[in-house]
Amino acid sequence: MNLSVRRSSATMRAERPPLWPYHADLLATSVPRYTSYPTAAEFHDGMMAADMAEGLRSVGRATSVSLYLHIPYCREICWYCGCNTGAANRSGRLDAYLDALHGEIDLVAATLDGRGKIGRIAFGGGSPNAIAPDQFDALVRHLHDAFASSGPILSVEVDPRGFDAEWADTLGRNRVTRASLGVQTFAPRLQAAIGRVQPAELIERSVALLRGAGVTSLNFDLMYGLPGQGDADLTDTLDQSIALAPERLAVFGYAHVPHLIPRQRRIDARELPDTRVRFGQAALAYEMLTGSGYLPVGFDHFALPSDALAIAATNGTLRRNFQGFTEDQADILIGLGATAISSFPDRLVQNDKNVGQYRMLVEGGVLPARRGLYRSAEDHRRAQVIEQLLTSGHADAALLTGMDDAIDRLAPYLARGLVRLDADGLALAQNALPYARSIACAFDQYRGQAATRFSSAV
Ligand code: SF4
Repeated sequence: MNLSVRRSSATMRAERPPLWPYHADLLATSVPRYTSYPTAAEFHDGMMAADMAEGLRSVGRATSVSLYLHIPYCREICWYCGCNTGAANRSGRLDAYLDALHGEIDLVAATLDGRGKIGRIAFGGGSPNAIAPDQFDALVRHLHDAFASSGPILSVEVDPRGFDAEWADTLGRNRVTRASLGVQTFAPRLQAAIGRVQPAELIERSVALLRGAGVTSLNFDLMYGLPGQGDADLTDTLDQSIALAPERLAVFGYAHVPHLIPRQRRIDARELPDTRVRFGQAALAYEMLTGSGYLPVGFDHFALPSDALAIAATNGTLRRNFQGFTEDQADILIGLGATAISSFPDRLVQNDKNVGQYRMLVEGGVLPARRGLYRSAEDHRRAQVIEQLLTSGHADAALLTGMDDAIDRLAPYLARGLVRLDADGLALAQNALPYARSIACAFDQYRGQAATRFSSAV
């Protein structure tokens, strides 16, 4: 974004009433991000290989399936990161993990026995570019050989640190057309405060390389609520991001939960902005991005109108899955790798988080499932309500029958006009976006305990 847009954004905010009403009491409780319902916090031990195999055998021959491959290694570990990832500093460890991942691909393919058509393959982690380019080639080749597919869309999460021309060539020859770049902030001072130092030139070079490789849908992950981050820092980061013209941006509030993520203890909690400042920063990002031509998607994504994500948000086909907001319509997601979660209509199954255990199971010829749950009919109905609220801001009346418990919990939101209930169903008000997750949470039958497991509502 150029300076004139930045000035106009600041002026807009000074002249207009606040974008969203601030209700401290409604933002006080931590709430899940609802990339699934029930959430992973409800998973229990004992969902094992047989449960996973049964899920795989339930897939129809021509059913569209998405794959997610988890690479739990990174070149350097960022202090804020909540992912299950370790330092990629020992090639022997990485090689052994990839051997197991290839083994799991064979096990899953044998169990599917030709069922399903792969429409998407996503590589995440960790950092997929922590492995060697030829190892990535081998994985993609193996996936194409092992599964029936229908010209799948390939996407990769990229760490600018360690991304180079050789990697860009690798993505190009494997026809990867989507990439998500971990940017977070351009401010060097803040990068140092969160343990992720990556100069602006490195990010710009990565963008140029990804474009040259044929990436047509590029996402930036950004964060607000960082230690010591002021509005001017966020404005600068948004300016620099917009100037690089990614098709998508995801703007997350930093969640400081060192009791759950010990590596966050390195972050100076005294410097963290309070809820009111975070709220203002979320609004600042919304105003700047929508003022620069991006459409809001869900509660924390933005996309250019020509991008598939914005089109899905506009035509009512937006979905939410473990990767966040998506236009992917597949109801079956198969996760491969340690920690990866698979989603079937009637069950969620998570692989062993421990890489050593994961490898042992695969080497023993066993699908490495460990945790998960079966979804009841009531779970399904509530999952639909939550997904509808988060993706379109509206839940159908037909789904709400018998959910008086949830409607009761919504009383403070109804009283303040943040949500409306009528014959059509439940509708979020235009200015209720920061409360969307909290409103969705009213339909979560499992909440009320363990609130500290989740991130701040804004
Ligand atoms: S690069 Fe990404 S996955 Fe790896 S430690 Fe940093 S934030 Fe976490």
